[in-house]
Amino acid sequence: MKVFEAKPELLSYLSIIREKKTIGFVPTMGALHNGHLSLIKASKKTCDITVCSIFVNPTQFNNIDDLNHYPKTIKSDLKKLKMLDCDIVYMPIIADLYKEDLKAKKFDFGIISSTMEGRFREGHFNGVATIVEKLFNIINPTKAFFGEKDLQQLYVVKELVRQIGSSVEIIGMPTIREKNGLAMSSRNKLLSKKGAKDASLINKCLLYCNDNYFKGVEALKQYIEKEFDNHSNIMLEYVEFIELKNMRPIKDFKAKGQNAICIAIYIDGIRLIDNIIL
Ligand code: AMP
Repeated sequence: MKVFEAKPELLSYLSIIREKKTIGFVPTMGALHNGHLSLIKASKKTCDITVCSIFVNPTQFNNIDDLNHYPKTIKSDLKKLKMLDCDIVYMPIIADLYKEDLKAKKFDFGIISSTMEGRFREGHFNGVATIVEKLFNIINPTKAFFGEKDLQQLYVVKELVRQIGSSVEIIGMPTIREKNGLAMSSRNKLLSKKGAKDASLINKCLLYCNDNYFKGVEALKQYIEKEFDNHSNIMLEYVEFIELKNMRPIKDFKAKGQNAICIAIYIDGIRLIDNIIL
């Protein structure tokens, strides 16, 4: 496994292998868990060379505290990647990605900017698209792997690729969960034991919706709001029912498999998101 911190070295290494090989890319912010590793495994299965980047991108954080407390576990991340035989790890130095100013480019992702993550994390998707475009320009992968856990992000990246006319194939991968159903997230490391246990309520609500799909959007939304009202240590930031193909909020379910329910909560002061496709 080769580890690069400087862009010129990475570029010259990639230029040698690029000619005959397909490159799979998995961008991450580190503090790796089995969700991230599932993306690495998928890349290894379908591409000749797998590149994983680890970079906590400041321009996608709308909250400085969240950025400052974001977990960093570089040593164990590298160990996990080595165990999976990841070919290349890119841990960029900030100056290789952002010049003098730490600013995101402005994109137009339509309704995405004003719903769910776009609404509650102002500027987040401009930051995400900025870093993904920069990393794609450096790595120029054949395929890039993203988790469905960040459902709007997956949509944004597909839209970015369309807007910039990139040939990178975007592959969405299912959410990997803890035994109690909690979606794996680097932020779970910041939860108390009780918090991690209580946060399984998110998945319980999503599964309830799966089993009670026939009750319809409004009834299920009310059910979820009531469930969270009954748990004073968890704050429901939003629950939104959306149409998968355009990420627009819906009042009635579309055809099976074309809908998603997205939730954001705060527990122990930590913000978690999750969703289910229905
Ligand atoms: P992050 O390090 O949080 O930026 O995540 C890097 C990539 O891993 C993104 O494409 C995420 O959607 C994906 N990811 C994060 N958590 C999970 C999970 N539990 N299951 C599958 N993919 C995930």
